[in-house]
Amino acid sequence: METILHVEKVKRTYTIGKTTLDVLKGVSLEVKAGETISIMGESGSGKSTLLHVMGGLDNPKSGTVHFQGQSVYGMSPARRTQFRAQNVGFVFQSFHLLPELDILENVALPAMAMRSRRDAKVRARELLVEVGLGERIGHRPQELSGGEQQRAALARALMNEPDMIFTDEPTGNLDSNTGDKVLHYLFQLVESRRHTLVLVTHNKDVAVRCSRQLVLKDGLLV
Ligand code: ADP
Ligand code: MG
Repeated sequence: METILHVEKVKRTYTIGKTTLDVLKGVSLEVKAGETISIMGESGSGKSTLLHVMGGLDNPKSGTVHFQGQSVYGMSPARRTQFRAQNVGFVFQSFHLLPELDILENVALPAMAMRSRRDAKVRARELLVEVGLGERIGHRPQELSGGEQQRAALARALMNEPDMIFTDEPTGNLDSNTGDKVLHYLFQLVESRRHTLVLVTHNKDVAVRCSRQLVLKDGLLV
């Protein structure tokens, strides 16, 4: 299978005053197209940091990230923003939906720059139906439960048909039944469209649903 994402010897430190924290100490990982990978690790082990570096959100101190052969941090910041919008979908623990927009508008928003408003809304509606929210499109986020909001966030992440999906503790704010439902939709969408998924979790039951399981420990993937 073709390599979609290649992370090589990535280091990331945080400096606060005189203290330097070595969070990633040379992480390397090759992700094949269509794979689903889970990254587990204790709280504070650097999972979110690694996900942000992989997704083009956070410049590493050293090392490289290549997406389909292109150096993500070799691009200009403007080009990298465009690259993320076109190729990458993110789902975070907190849903980050805009309270003043309804669900349809929230989901359609990432595509407004790339398609006509009308096309964006048509696709957003289709995705919302797929995650079981077809009846809720006119509602605002605060009128939905946590699990429903996360399903809307999932639809939004898929809006631009990204090759790569990154999820950071997507069920971390949900009770286990609600979380299971979100995961059901996540894997259904990812598998039916052959997206590549990197999922961060501290929950073993969630991790085992992925085709490859990795653990981040002492700044390295094992
Ligand atoms: P995880 O997602 O595995 O819980 P994080 O990647 O969020 O871990 O954080 C790894 C370590 O880096 C933690 O010790 C955290 O406190 C620290 N850290 C994360 N972000 C920052 C930041 N912006 N500034 C300083 N320290 C940070
Ligand atoms: Mg985290």
